[in-house]
Amino acid sequence: MLVVGSLLLLSLSGALARPRPVPDGLVVLTFDDAVLSHATYVAPLLRKYGFGATFFVCEFREPAFADKSKYMSWAQIRQLYRWGFEVGSHTLTHRHVTKLTASELGAELDSIESRCRTWHISRPVTFAYPGYDTAPRALPVLHDRGYRLARAGGDRPYDPAQDDPLLVPSYTTLATNRLQILAALAQAHDGRIVVLTIHGVPDGAHDWVTTPPALFEEYLAYLHEHHYRVVALRDLARYLPARPPTVTSN
Ligand SMILES: [Zn+2]
Repeated sequence: MLVVGSLLLLSLSGALARPRPVPDGLVVLTFDDAVLSHATYVAPLLRKYGFGATFFVCEFREPAFADKSKYMSWAQIRQLYRWGFEVGSHTLTHRHVTKLTASELGAELDSIESRCRTWHISRPVTFAYPGYDTAPRALPVLHDRGYRLARAGGDRPYDPAQDDPLLVPSYTTLATNRLQILAALAQAHDGRIVVLTIHGVPDGAHDWVTTPPALFEEYLAYLHEHHYRVVALRDLARYLPARPPTVTSN
């Protein structure tokens, strides 16, 4: 009986450790840079569709963030959180991790975490690399602070069975790449997840990464009509393989 019980426990723990299979049609929407249109236009539209999303916020270097005709206030970021959207970290100053030492990156993460504490927003568990620039030394810093997933660029689908969760690839929506995005969405099957990076809709601060509202609305209608499951980045944690042994930073 004891043996049977132990076997049962063993097989149960095995089942628990195994990640859930990735459903087909899984899409993650991520929005970078705390652009004003995220609060005034994007989030209300996402709510209509019942879609999840992650907003990766930063403040840039002053005085950019102070221009509230272009960037969200923390009160607006908190509203996104209260609506159920995920607030993730995009560093405080948007400096690329290739330009930061481990301790400087730690300080950048601290700053956003402390803003979140002040505004009663959950501590971020996801991160987006500014400028899509990644550096091997950033990974242990993120890992040790409890970040589960970190999004980069790369224009390919994410495969949790193959890819490091701290190097999640994504596609960036632009005014000019509608066909590429529609082709990308078609790849969300057989274990692959499509992650989109979206800046302002439109983007008043960085017009080279703007997504026109009509195009954005076309994407949302398309996702809805084709029964995609649209979630925040943190929601992918359930599909991750068991965490590898702890990486130590030096
Ligand atoms: Zn950015």
